[in-house]
Formats: sequence, C-alpha cells, structure tokens
Amino acid sequence: MITKPRGTEDVLPEESKLWQYIENTARRVCELYGYKEIRTPVFEHTELFQRGVGDTTDVVQKEMYTFEDKGGRSITLKPEGTATLVRSYIENSLYANPQPTKLSYIIPCFRYEKPQSGRLREFHQFGIECFGASTPTTDAEVISLAYMFLKELKLTGIRLNINSIGCPVCKKDYNQKLRAYFENYRGELCPTCLERLEKNPMRIIDCKSEICSRIAKDAPKMIDNLCEDCSTHFEGVKERLDNMGVEYTVNPDIVRGLDYYTKTVFEFVSDALGAQSTVCGGGRYSGLVEELGGKPADGIGFAAGLERLILVFKKQQEQLNEFDSVPDLFVATMGETAEKFAQKLIFELRQKGIHAQQDLCGRSLKAQMKYADKLSSKFSIVIGDTELEQNSANLKNMTNGGITETDLSADALSEKIIQEVK
Ligand code: ATP
Ligand code: MG
Repeated sequence: MITKPRGTEDVLPEESKLWQYIENTARRVCELYGYKEIRTPVFEHTELFQRGVGDTTDVVQKEMYTFEDKGGRSITLKPEGTATLVRSYIENSLYANPQPTKLSYIIPCFRYEKPQSGRLREFHQFGIECFGASTPTTDAEVISLAYMFLKELKLTGIRLNINSIGCPVCKKDYNQKLRAYFENYRGELCPTCLERLEKNPMRIIDCKSEICSRIAKDAPKMIDNLCEDCSTHFEGVKERLDNMGVEYTVNPDIVRGLDYYTKTVFEFVSDALGAQSTVCGGGRYSGLVEELGGKPADGIGFAAGLERLILVFKKQQEQLNEFDSVPDLFVATMGETAEKFAQKLIFELRQKGIHAQQDLCGRSLKAQMKYADKLSSKFSIVIGDTELEQNSANLKNMTNGGITETDLSADALSEKIIQEVK
C-alpha cells in the first residue's frame, strides 16, 4: 500500500464540511472589510523567500521545500503567503490603484518540520495583507478582522496578544542591549542562537529550545525601548482596539517568526491546544516591498492556520453535528422502469435545490429502506409499477413517520418537502 507522505493529511468528507464552514466564514468577513481574494502560484523562485522571509529565520534556514526544476532553476513551495503577495503587488502594479490594496488568500503552505499535532509539512493558511497604509487605524482594522473571523466561528477560549517590536531606528539601540544581555549566556545558548546573536539577536526570544527561552525570559523588552514614533503608533493601535471593544493583552515576548516585521505584531492563541497554540499570527512590515524591488510601501497582515482551527473545533465537539448534510429525499424503487423514472425525477429535484438520492448498488427494496435510514434522509418515497400507473406515491416523513400523498412530478414533490420541512 502506498501511504501519504509524512506530515500531510487527507481531509475526509465528514471533516471537509468544517473546512468549508471556516473558509466561507473567512470569505464573508473579508467581503465585509473589502479584502479581495488573490490567487497565486503554489511555487515561487527560492530567492523570493530568502529575501522576503529572511535568511535568519527557521522557515528559510531549515524548513523550506526547495528543489531544482528541469531548467536548473531553484524553486520553493510556498512556506507562507506574505512574500508572494508582496511580489504580486509589485509585479502587477497594484500600488497604482487607490491605496490601500486589501488582499486575502487561502493557500496550502509547505514547511519541512517535525510533524506533530498542529504541525504539518503541508498545511493551510487563511490570510490577508493590506498595502499602502501606515496609520494605527489600519493595524486596528486588520486585527479586528481576525478577531471578527474567530468570533464568527464561535470558537471559545481564544485570546489576543499584541506587542510592538519597533522599527529599524529603535531596533538598533535595542539590539545592542540584547546582545550585551545574551553575551552573558554565550556558553548556554543553542548553536542556532549563537549565530542569531551576531545576525539578529531578537530571533533568540523566539527560540523553541527550553534553555534559550528560559534565558530570554529576563532579556530587555523591545516594548520598553521604543522610539517616540513607534511608541505613539502603538498607543494609537491600543486606543482604537479599546474603542471597538476588541479585547487584548500586551505581551512583550511576542516577536514573531519572520524577519520583516516592524511595529505592531500580534497573535491569537487558543486554550484548547497544547504546544502549538497559536492559531493566527501577524504584524506590520515596512521594508519588505522595497526589499523585493518595489517603491517603499507599508504592509500589514496576518495568517491563520486552518488545521489548528479545525483542532480547536474538534475539541469543542458538540458543534460538529451542525455540519452534517443529509438528503432531503430518498427515492426507493422496484424494477428497472421505476429506477429510470426515479433517476430523471431526482435530476429535476436537484435542479430545484432538493438533495435527493437513490440506490446505485442494485439493493432489494428492504435494503434500500435500510440504506435510506443510514443516510438519515428526511423523507422517502417508494416507486413501483402501481405508483407509476397512478402517478402517485406516499411521501414519508422519516423523522415523525407522517405520510402525505403526492403526485410524482418534481414540482409537487419539492413543494411538499419544502412545506413539511418548514
Ligand atoms: P509556530 O510558532 O507555531 O511554528 P509560526 O510563527 O512558524 O508558528 P507563522 O509563520 O506565523 O507561524 O504562520 C501563521 C500560522 O500558520 C501559525 O499561527 C499557525 O497557526 C500556522 N502554522 C505555521 N506552521 C504550521 C505547521 N507546520 N503546521 C500547521 N500550521 C502551521
Ligand atoms: Mg514555525
């Protein structure tokens, strides 16, 4: 037997209903906020992520699915959405439209990680990016969109943490302080963090190793070292979130996994998940559009991991049943003439929006009725020669056993079903 590659998942039919519900909710909220969907390639030139995600990140250093194609180009399966959207924003001159440019996406992402609960090698993200707006109002709007999305999903136990990680101006002084602090622990840091100490000491705060994260606990915090511009911006964001009633906690330890963030960063975490508790993460970035060859423009966005949201849903079990879809009508038949008649009738019913089913496996009448029960069909009818002759059959309500006589036209049947369901 050939099995699926490690770290990938099949979404089976009973679960894909849940996926559709989450995706539909995402699309609906985006529409309310004016975020339009963009669809981009699954793979990109490797350089895009090296420059756009950052050479010192785990994603680029360890996790990318990179290969050489037959033309000798280095290609990478998208590990995230932002760099691609920035590329597309520049390449398609979206900056020429009235700003901001508000984009949303639902994409598969690929990262070579150690598979575990909530951590896969192929996973999916719903995300948005807003380009060309640098006001605190924008940050608050973006955060409130994620907040509304998660609220609409009716997930409980989700908390919002926000922080500011400053801009290149304040980071310069701060990085010096950080370096001085971590120098004291040179002997204890993991090899990756020793490298980070030279290149990007803030990354150490995000290290997953126990020792490094313990050392990082008492490190100086960016939020206490913001320049005036960043500090004013952050106050403005908090004020606007308060104004909308979006609840949050300021958490000075959020630095986020990607290199390009500046100023506001945020995460939504779930109480229902263990180690992989972040269901959504995002932030503002100011240098990225320019880094990737565009005219300077600010961006801000987030990405939510759909598999992790599904996990939260499954922990909150009772909601799952709502997503079952059952047939409105099962048409049981006796004989080939009735079976053909039923197929045409069902074809017409489906065009009227009625979910109808018939047997496809050559079952006996008794077995057909058992099958209708298994499907939890709301109604059933039996069609045989007599019913065909009289153009009439008994419509049975499978829930309460009630019987209504109906003629065998799609119009009459659909009307009766709709009436009874009400
Ligand atoms: P983590 O700290 O959990 O590794 P991250 O900082 O690498 O997350 P981001 O790059 O910000 O994650 O991606 C946004 C979201 O995508 C995460 O909050 C998470 O919900 C989801 N995500 C990231 N990596 C994975 C993965 N390997 N499997 C499943 N979901 C993931
Ligand atoms: Mg990660």
